[in-house]
Amino acid sequence: MLHTNLDINEKGHLTLAGRDTVELAEKYGTPLYLIDEKRVREKMRTYVDAMKKYFGRGSVPLLASKALCFKKIYQIANEEGMCTDIVSPGELYTASCAGFPMEKAYFHGNNKTDEDIALAIKLKIGCFIADNREELDSISRISKEEGVVSRVILRVTPGIDPHTHAAISTGKVDSKFGTAIETGQAIELVKYILTLPNINLTGIHCHVGSLCFDSKPFIDAADIMVAFMAKIREETGVTLTDLNLGGGYGVRYIETNPHIDIADNIRQVAEHVSAVCEKEKFPYPRVLLEPGRSIVADAGVTLYSVGSVKTITGYKSYISIDGGMTDNPRYALYGSDYTVLNASDANAEPDMIATIAGRCCESGDLIQENVKIKKPERGDKIAVLVTGAYNYSMASNYNRIPRPPVVMISPDGDDYIAVRRETYEDLINLDA
Ligand SMILES: *Cc1c(COP(=O)(O)O)cnc(C)c1O
Repeated sequence: MLHTNLDINEKGHLTLAGRDTVELAEKYGTPLYLIDEKRVREKMRTYVDAMKKYFGRGSVPLLASKALCFKKIYQIANEEGMCTDIVSPGELYTASCAGFPMEKAYFHGNNKTDEDIALAIKLKIGCFIADNREELDSISRISKEEGVVSRVILRVTPGIDPHTHAAISTGKVDSKFGTAIETGQAIELVKYILTLPNINLTGIHCHVGSLCFDSKPFIDAADIMVAFMAKIREETGVTLTDLNLGGGYGVRYIETNPHIDIADNIRQVAEHVSAVCEKEKFPYPRVLLEPGRSIVADAGVTLYSVGSVKTITGYKSYISIDGGMTDNPRYALYGSDYTVLNASDANAEPDMIATIAGRCCESGDLIQENVKIKKPERGDKIAVLVTGAYNYSMASNYNRIPRPPVVMISPDGDDYIAVRRETYEDLINLDA
């Protein structure tokens, strides 16, 4: 199958981490997010161990919260030795309520309000990843009022397109995030930060994009970033220690996507950082990465129940399911690829080509088109694979559809609820 945690049992049902997904769908109802906890932990360990081994010097992965965010994920991340990056006060609050140590949390985002900054300081955030001048003024001012010194990493744009792998493509300098190195604005901002009270600038950050299937974008970014750190040292006398290269190894959503050996890729990036540090005569930094998708995506499967199969004579066929863009908006948003199968009859040869349609009042509410699938009957379970990332975290209540629960399969094979299903009462709870 697509990933080693997926299989088909003697009943012809899809299994995840050895558990019958159709049975779990019957037990908890559909739509249902399933997450294989063992797989999440394995991926976290791969990052933690490889970064320690190849980057050394306190280097550590930050779990990108936006990929999958609820209390249990932070507890697992903490147990596995991860730090975390959070982008909003809601993620910050969730991490804090989960007991995640705040000194290991990094606060991202391109528009942190004064309230966000004050909350983060109150919760003793470990580091701000600052985006812009106004925000830095605010971090400085609030830190001063609170009598603390805030650690800051500055987000810059190195101008790399992860898809063409072209360095210095000005297109990527044009971003709502960070400050461009190429235009000279980043060095000016660094000089400004060094004048601000109650701020300890320790490093620079960049995020070249997501879904990188090899290390070329990280290697290109490391070149530009280390050269920029050397330039900062030359022009200001300050030697920064933290090099944050952002998130983004890809995952296998479909058979034609490659497998990625994460540890080996980290080794390649580490070797390159060594080489460029030597060339620039710059001390080897502490390296941070922010994986999200590559940690949680292949741990997840979503189960739906089929309502109808509709074939429009001379056109195409639709399979209607009891979820859709409210629990997985990624096809509607970016036409993302997914592997879809009939989990109730997973061994059978596909005998139709269908569009998988959701239940919203919206013709764009599709999960995937042109899926080769064994024709389901009403009540059969449809599985969408590799949905651990950016599904639950992007879910909405459009059409007042309650969000599905997240059920985890523990490393010893027990199922448990990590997030309960929303009720109709939850939906009206905020209404006056
Ligand atoms: C989205 C994002 C990540 C995580 O990307 P993945 O593709 O999920 O690994 C990390 N850092 C930043 C700044 C991001 O915007």
